[in-house]
Amino acid sequence: MAIIHWEFNLARRVALISLIGGSISWALRQMRTGLQPDFLTVFLSGYLLVLASFIIWRVKYQIMAAVMTLAMMVIGLWVSSQLIEPRPGPLLVILTAITMAAAYFRFRITFALILVSTVTLVIMGHFVAERNADKISSLPLGMTLFASWLSVCAGFATTSTIVAALISFVVTKMEQSLAHTQHLLQEAQRREKILEDKERLLKLFTELSSDYVYQVNLKNQQFVPQIFAGSFERITGYTLDELEIKGGWLAIVHPDDRESMESHMPALLKGKSIVNEYRIVSAAGDVIWLRDHVRPITDAATGVVTELLGAVHDITERKLAEEQIENLAFYDPLTTLPNRRLLLDRLEQAMALSQRTGQRGALLFIDLDNFKNLNDTKGHEAGDQLLIQQARRLRLCVREGDTVARLGGDEFIIILGELQDGAEAAAEEASAIAQQIVHALSLPVALTYRAVTDYENTCSIGVALFLGHEQSVDELLRRADLAMYQAKADGRNTFRFYDPAMQSLLSDRLELEEELKHALAQEQLLVYLQPQVTRDNKLVGAEILLRWLHPEKGMISPLQFIPTAERTGAIVAIGNWVLEEACHILRSWAEDPQTQGLTLSVNVSARQFRQDDFTTNVSNIIRKTGASPTRLKLELTESLALENVGETITKMQVLRMIGVELSLDDFGTGQSSLSYLKQLPLNQLKIDQSFTREISTDTNDAILVQTIIGMAHNLKLDIIAEGVETEEQLEFLATHGCAVYQGFLFGKPMPQSEFSAQYFGVS
Ligand code: C2E
Ligand code: MG
Ligand code: MG
Repeated sequence: MAIIHWEFNLARRVALISLIGGSISWALRQMRTGLQPDFLTVFLSGYLLVLASFIIWRVKYQIMAAVMTLAMMVIGLWVSSQLIEPRPGPLLVILTAITMAAAYFRFRITFALILVSTVTLVIMGHFVAERNADKISSLPLGMTLFASWLSVCAGFATTSTIVAALISFVVTKMEQSLAHTQHLLQEAQRREKILEDKERLLKLFTELSSDYVYQVNLKNQQFVPQIFAGSFERITGYTLDELEIKGGWLAIVHPDDRESMESHMPALLKGKSIVNEYRIVSAAGDVIWLRDHVRPITDAATGVVTELLGAVHDITERKLAEEQIENLAFYDPLTTLPNRRLLLDRLEQAMALSQRTGQRGALLFIDLDNFKNLNDTKGHEAGDQLLIQQARRLRLCVREGDTVARLGGDEFIIILGELQDGAEAAAEEASAIAQQIVHALSLPVALTYRAVTDYENTCSIGVALFLGHEQSVDELLRRADLAMYQAKADGRNTFRFYDPAMQSLLSDRLELEEELKHALAQEQLLVYLQPQVTRDNKLVGAEILLRWLHPEKGMISPLQFIPTAERTGAIVAIGNWVLEEACHILRSWAEDPQTQGLTLSVNVSARQFRQDDFTTNVSNIIRKTGASPTRLKLELTESLALENVGETITKMQVLRMIGVELSLDDFGTGQSSLSYLKQLPLNQLKIDQSFTREISTDTNDAILVQTIIGMAHNLKLDIIAEGVETEEQLEFLATHGCAVYQGFLFGKPMPQSEFSAQYFGVS
């Protein structure tokens, strides 16, 4: 390219010079010769015209050069032919033409031109010598003019050939060196392109494999990174300049992560690569998680770490996902409180802290009272609402560092740490908080789901103090649980501290559970009968009551073991057994006219009643024993009847269809409303003994009993009062329309033999 340029410019300039020079010389000649045209004039005119048109048409430079070269040679030859002696002027013109030809067309063509011009010169010399023989005065060594001419031509040919060869050689060399330079240039450009491509690829790969890479010179105190590839600005929201103004990299690292970041420095300075995960706060104020793979670069000469190279990933999304997974694993989704797993972990930590500081902590076991009732009557959504709201209140009752967790169902745990020094002060502080919780949770709740405003719920709390690792986590939880049961037993809506006496209670309970499993098989269970009579002491029936005759502990009250049997499920088998015993008694009574009209009441526990096959069992037992179903009265408690009202009513209706009578035991202690009561297919209401007891002393109870009796009459239900112990109570009940009674005034529960002896005179 360059060489063409060079040639072209040269050709153009020479053409122009020739044109101008030619024009001037032609004009001068015209003036001198008086405008007589000769060969040169015509030739030059033609030549000038051709050259001018070539320049205008911008013909190829080689053509232009060829034309000029030829023209110069013709001019040179013509002028020479006009002279008698060859002179350097025209020869110089020819030589110039040869030089140009050699430059453009190399040696061979030029050499041909030289030969042609030499031959032409020789021919011309011959004619000129003949024509101008007289003009030659003397020639050395007797040479003829022609011979002299020939020698000049030979000289011309030789000189021209040498000049042409020389120029052709120089030009070829120049061209070769130019071509070589050009080749080198192209190679350099090709390499540059490859490098550029590679750099672009590297950048792309960098962006693919990490969000950005950087280099930090450790001499830079602020750790302002030097080179970044990738999306540094997109992630951080800062340009490098802004980062420098801000105070360097550490300034935007999250304050909580700065320490851990700095802790990696010693390892880095020792030349170890590290992978660090930390947060930064972006320019927009967002917290961004980064994963930074840092590699130290050591100075080869000194072995000192001088630079850090790093590849950084934005892992915010991954961290968020991890957080969510962690939330699922460690938090209760409903209340967002820590779940059991996290609680156990926190409890371990709290114990370890207590061990270090010597300060006590407390574990609060919180159980919502009657939560099951709400769930059964108002639905699970209402129950969930209550749990959410009470959880929120619990959180407000404690200090920031304390843990509030949901153990499951309606049970919550609070860990109070670092209580005041000394057991007494610690207990006081914990009890103040427990008191506050009892109060907070007893405030009315608005349940948005069922639009129940002012729903009243209470809780029972068990508190266990701990100091270091005195007890295991399990033991501590058991203690708080036990204390919570004590709070329930003491009337709920309160809190109780664990005390060692409870421990023995717990062991007793466990022992009882174990022994109860075998009580039935080992025939340690008995049934007692308690009479039910009218005002004039006429026997109308009896209630069959369980007794456990323990081989070592003696007679155990059902109040002690029925709840345990309920919890372990033993009640199902025991209840069936009682039913069978009752039916056997009824069967035997049916044979005696004296007893065939008597009814027998059997207590049914909730767990027993909930069995799918309960009604089938009852009818099977009746059929198997041959007892009269109409003499059998099943006593259900109010809370049992209120659970799953739909299912309860269906089962009750089946029982009524079999012929069995139904009585509502302990009536008045539950919360059944009149509307529910009306739906239940009952035969009898049984006034709870707590009301009977207070009839003569408490006017409220007296009014309540009157109301119950009135209600029973209205609903056309039989009524019986239990726990009648005094004549006054009897008198009151009788006057207000209750005609049947059960209580110590008439007879305590007694073995069947005693019962028969007392009432029928048989043993
Ligand atoms: P309940 O069904 O309300 O039984 C009446 C309880 O009151 C009996 O206690 C009885 O001895 C007691 N009692 C009767 N008259 C008087 C009185 O005048 N004064 C006083 N202070 N008490 C009186 P017991 O036998 O200890 O039974 C307690 C509870 O255990 C029963 O209460 C019943 O809920 C349950 N239970 C008893 N036997 C069975 C059974 O076979 N199955 C089930 N599921 N529960 C039973
Ligand atoms: Mg009863
Ligand atoms: Mg009762």
